[in-house]
Amino acid sequence: MTGKRRVLVIGGGASGLMAAIAAAERGAKVTLLERNRQVGKKILVTGNGRCNLTNLDQDLSHYRGGEPGFAAAVLGEFGLSETLERFKRMGVHTRSRNGYLYPYSDQASSVADALRMEAEHLGVKLALGNQVLALEALPEGKGARFAARTEGWTYEGDACVLAAGSAAAPATGSDGSGYALAQSLGHRIIKPLPALTALRCREAFYGRLAGLRMEAVVRILADGKELASDRGEVQFTKNGISGIPVFQVSRFAVRALDEGKKVEGRLDLLPGFAAGKEEGKEGSARLEAFFLERLRDGGWKNGEQLLTGLFPGKMSLCLLERAGIPRGRRAEEWSREELSRLLAVIRDFRTEIAAGGSFEQAQVCSGGVDTAQICPQTMESLLVPELYFAGEAVDIDGACGGYNLQWAWSSGCIAGSYAAGKRQAGCEFEKSRGRLESQEGGGL
Ligand SMILES: Cc1cc2nc3c(=O)[nH]c(=O)nc-3n(C[C@H](O)[C@H](O)[C@H](O)COP(=O)(O)OP(=O)(O)OC[C@H]3O[C@@H](n4cnc5c(N)ncnc54)[C@H](O)[C@@H]3O)c2cc1C
Repeated sequence: MTGKRRVLVIGGGASGLMAAIAAAERGAKVTLLERNRQVGKKILVTGNGRCNLTNLDQDLSHYRGGEPGFAAAVLGEFGLSETLERFKRMGVHTRSRNGYLYPYSDQASSVADALRMEAEHLGVKLALGNQVLALEALPEGKGARFAARTEGWTYEGDACVLAAGSAAAPATGSDGSGYALAQSLGHRIIKPLPALTALRCREAFYGRLAGLRMEAVVRILADGKELASDRGEVQFTKNGISGIPVFQVSRFAVRALDEGKKVEGRLDLLPGFAAGKEEGKEGSARLEAFFLERLRDGGWKNGEQLLTGLFPGKMSLCLLERAGIPRGRRAEEWSREELSRLLAVIRDFRTEIAAGGSFEQAQVCSGGVDTAQICPQTMESLLVPELYFAGEAVDIDGACGGYNLQWAWSSGCIAGSYAAGKRQAGCEFEKSRGRLESQEGGGL
């Protein structure tokens, strides 16, 4: 390590701070360029202000993107245990809630503060209020490899980490401008779309359901094919559905809508009857038996009364209406067909998805810099030597539960280490996917 290598980091969010720390730790002279007047602004709003910084369950299915194997390779280099160890050294002790890890203080600010303090301690120059307007890769022999132009200055570096985030939650600083910087150096951008967001639905009845919260299984189908499902507390809003299980499936719905597909949500509103072995036909038979017993005991009740204790009143009325059962009719007068229709609506509550939330409302974006143009062992561009990528700017998005920050820590640490001069003999991942030779765009 020469100790004189100049590393530019563009973006002072989770991934940029981690990259700057990793690079400085290896002796590089690091300048971090951040358009906000503070670093780590988005970290402050994570986990409802408590920062769910990672998760004990690191199953790779929680990471999504164009190349499923890409995140695996990165997390294999710097994963959960390395992250926890690194945070411990920065003084951040964690606590677990069902495997979801938070700082012990339960304050997101302590994560942002610890990162900032560590960066400053290691001598990282925090150039705040500096929006990078253009990034140029200089030809060899110019003394520097990169020139990052801001309004008042041009910063030069021997390596550059682009960690400018996505287009989600722009109030925190990530305005999507990082995509243009990557594009200007020849990189392909997979269309960024809002992810981890509520879903807007077409039916008019949502106005009446607004405010309800119910345990449900949510499935997303595009042109009739199931794409994703999740179980948890669904929140009904005035124009659709929200809540953690909806967030989890939203990236699939939004991408399918963008591809022009017909997207449908299907909710099982009594998921207890469909658990494990009782899924499918067995679950339906069990639910029917349950209702027949309810009918025997309370045949004198009307539909709304019969459903009391199972569903909130507003939902009961909606279910009866969708099943075509008149509100005042006593349950003992229902035909077998009417009961079947009601059970079908309960277990398979269908809704047409019209749209996802806006970038302003989304927690993250799917899409970003195409991973086919990045080496996951180093996070270095395959087109532009010494250009590295980190965080949400890359076409990897995580599920809700600490996976987006884990991605930021992992990719940031790897990018920073290699930008500072850590060497790697060839990219094994690249060799295995056999793309190295066929990359398009002009390598410099
Ligand atoms: C409300 C909310 C809650 C969340 N909760 C969680 C959670 O609990 N757990 C979890 O894992 N994830 C959570 N996330 C997602 C997580 O915060 C992000 O995935 C993560 O912070 C991304 O880090 P990043 O460094 O890639 O990008 P960012 O944190 O967005 O940082 C990018 C930085 O680059 C700067 N920048 C952009 N363009 C330029 C430019 N041209 N020049 C200079 N600077 C620039 C921006 O100002 C910004 O500071 C949440 C997100 C939101 C919005």
